[in-house]
Amino acid sequence: MTEPVRCARCGAVLEKDDIALTRKMVNRGTETFFCISCLADHFELTEEILRIKIREFKAMGCTLFD
Ligand SMILES: [Zn+2]
Repeated sequence: MTEPVRCARCGAVLEKDDIALTRKMVNRGTETFFCISCLADHFELTEEILRIKIREFKAMGCTLFD
C-alpha cells in the first residue's frame, strides 16, 4: 500500500492537483509537496487564484495535470 503524499508544511493529505501544482509552481523535479493553502501562503496568492490556475493549466493541456 502506498502512503498518501502529505503537505510538507501542514501535513494535509494531498490530491493529485496539489502535487501537480507544486511541480508547476516550485520545481518539476521536487520531492517536497504542499497543499493549495500552503502554496497560496508561500506565493502570497489566494487559494482562489491557484484553483483558477489549475483550471488554466489543465485547459492548456499541461502534462503535469493528467
Ligand atoms: Zn499545507
